[in-house]
Amino acid sequence: MKCEICSKEIGVTFLGKLKGNYVKVKGKQYPICNSCFKENKSSIKESLVKK
Ligand SMILES: [Zn+2]
Repeated sequence: MKCEICSKEIGVTFLGKLKGNYVKVKGKQYPICNSCFKENKSSIKESLVKK
């Protein structure tokens, strides 16, 4: 699965859990890597809406 912001591949754990975060915008879930999540916490939803 790829990060919606930086397009970097996000790994999954052996249980199939994403090593990152899901951000929900308008009922859709976007995978976001940990570093983007930390850096853009406040603006993350805005940047996803613009897509
Ligand atoms: Zn990212």
